[in-house]
Amino acid sequence: MLAYTYIEKGLFELKDKLKPQIIDEKDAVVRVTLASICTSDIHIKHGSVPRAIPGITVGHEMVGVVEKTGTAVEKVKPGDRVTVNVETFCGECFFCRNGYVNNCTDKNGGWALGCRIDGGQAEYVRVPFADNGLDIIPDSVTDEQALFTGDILATGFWAARISEITPEDTVLIIGAGPTGLCTLACVSLKNPEKIIVCERDESRRDFVRKHYPEVLTVAPEEALRFIKANCPNGGADRVIEVAGAEDTFRLAWECARPNAVVTVVALYDKPQILPLPEMYGKNLIFKTGGVDGCDCAEILSLMEQGKIDTTPLITHTYDLKDIEEAYKLFEEKRDGVIKVAVKP
Ligand SMILES: [Zn+2]
Ligand SMILES: [Zn+2]
Repeated sequence: MLAYTYIEKGLFELKDKLKPQIIDEKDAVVRVTLASICTSDIHIKHGSVPRAIPGITVGHEMVGVVEKTGTAVEKVKPGDRVTVNVETFCGECFFCRNGYVNNCTDKNGGWALGCRIDGGQAEYVRVPFADNGLDIIPDSVTDEQALFTGDILATGFWAARISEITPEDTVLIIGAGPTGLCTLACVSLKNPEKIIVCERDESRRDFVRKHYPEVLTVAPEEALRFIKANCPNGGADRVIEVAGAEDTFRLAWECARPNAVVTVVALYDKPQILPLPEMYGKNLIFKTGGVDGCDCAEILSLMEQGKIDTTPLITHTYDLKDIEEAYKLFEEKRDGVIKVAVKP
């Protein structure tokens, strides 16, 4: 089968590999019907994910059809259409039992697919702990709708959940890349008083205004002034930082009102400064992470009810055999690309 493979720093290649097999009774093998490229894949390619193992098939965002299951798998059966969770989790350790599945203590716990074990930019993928890692897609939900459920949409959903948003809140989202847009979709479900999206790229601000006309948008250099003008208590009640750019962590806490919740979803290239003397008395609550991606069933149900639709994020679709081209487009952010779908 075709599998896009991490060869060495700077090099991915489409390889012919053996089809994966069940190796544990809790495994399932899934025939991938649609996959996507994530910024984390690009990080692997550039060698900034040291735990990624050369030779593995990349890709951790996909949907497919269950082909085979191990004897201990109960939730899914061959023929079921499923989303695949970015995280592998046992469901039994301390962290799993408390919903902190990102920190599952199993040897493959956390982000393993397409990083430490073979992932899904391929025709087939083996999913460990299939009862936790797979969720059945409702009949009325398409592959395109479900594609981001296990990764960036799970992240947006989790970010909105842990930010403790109330209907009185003004929520500032920093960054309208794919994960920022998924966060926006999930924050909208909480019906806050106001949502403001801060984004550098004008075409992405346009995208937000087109799909969420009630949302206010602002460029980073205007953000502080704009927030003060639009928030009665001197800042946003909730800030979700998804951008991970040079100055966006600072912007996040500067835009927060005293006693606000600041949720940091972004993955930074460099250490960030937490200038406690400067923020003394602001009494901020910081939450950081690593998505605990265990809300997929709820996300799929919201899609079925028509409450979440992330299909507009798919701006381009390629065949798996042309995945090299798809990566180029995504990496160079050409042609207004937001997300690329890849069809095996
Ligand atoms: Zn990802
Ligand atoms: Zn666990």
